[in-house]
Amino acid sequence: MGKIHQLDNVLANQIAAGEVIERPASIVKELVENSLDAHSRRIDVLVTNSGLGSIRVIDDGDGIAADDLQLAFKRHATSKISSRKDLFRVQTMGFRGEALPSIASVADVKMTTATADSDGHSIHLHGGKVVSEKPALSRPGTDVTVTELFFNTPARLKYLKSPQTELSHLTDIVNRLALANPEVAISLTSDGHELFRSAGNGNLAQVVAAIYGIQVGRKMIKISGADNDFKVTGLVSLPELTRASRQYITLTINHRYVRNFQLTKAIIQGYGSKLMVGRYPVAVVNIDLDPFLVDVNVHPAKREVRLSKEPQLVNLIANAIAQAIGQRNLIPDVGDKA
Ligand code: ADP
Ligand code: MG
Repeated sequence: MGKIHQLDNVLANQIAAGEVIERPASIVKELVENSLDAHSRRIDVLVTNSGLGSIRVIDDGDGIAADDLQLAFKRHATSKISSRKDLFRVQTMGFRGEALPSIASVADVKMTTATADSDGHSIHLHGGKVVSEKPALSRPGTDVTVTELFFNTPARLKYLKSPQTELSHLTDIVNRLALANPEVAISLTSDGHELFRSAGNGNLAQVVAAIYGIQVGRKMIKISGADNDFKVTGLVSLPELTRASRQYITLTINHRYVRNFQLTKAIIQGYGSKLMVGRYPVAVVNIDLDPFLVDVNVHPAKREVRLSKEPQLVNLIANAIAQAIGQRNLIPDVGDKA
């Protein structure tokens, strides 16, 4: 008798969840990214007890057809890619088909959803198992609530930090997603208090002001640069406005919030000697490129990406910033599209 057997689905999903679902903020990230992929214009995030009580994300996006609802919670089930070729041209935030099954395997999930041309439907899963599924009244869009996070993975639960720390991670991710998508109205409400709201009118300067304050918003200047492969746009602070950490730098690639050490360094480099040692700018830099030039499949949470032609992009970013801070007549009007 052999000793090898295939793990059951729920267990396999829980193991996958270990990689993508670290804390309440990871759930918010995955759910909001799904809402963005579904072409939502408005996304509201409501949490209680820093997401440890509940996390609810309501969107006005495409919704999920009733026939697809159970499938959406199966592993490797996605509407976003279908072939190997697609993998190299990913335009959406998601494509691995892992978030919903992972979340459902370590929590209680209730989802109500409707598409523009079908009636609403709701599903309830607990610890990865379907408890019920039934027709429900709903506007087009999706409304999902996650409770009892990590109820069946006590080690994960123990690893979580204080509610304040979890809430700050959660706020951070909502802010970054709003900076990456100024054309979508995004809000965050915690225990009934609204912590953040963006207008969704495409004005990046307004989103920056909503997050970092009007004073910071006033000291941001537009940058732009382009070559045959890349287009760089965004807002960076005047050299006189600095912070003690790199945390205030947001980098997005095709409107996906990412982290990349070299590109962050390029932003700092653009300031040359105008920044004091240990001081960093506030910046939101978006790079538009052919998806073929970026590999987002390096990290399960897709936070780290690998780029072709990185040195060329480093130069482009540094130059765009150097140019912008050399000429100050580009200060954005907060009432203007940035
Ligand atoms: P992925 O995003 O990688 O495709 P997920 O597990 O996050 O995988 O979601 C599975 C599928 O469920 C998605 O491909 C999408 O078709 C559907 N889906 C999830 N969330 C939403 C949403 N808010 N609106 C519309 N469809 C959604
Ligand atoms: Mg997803």
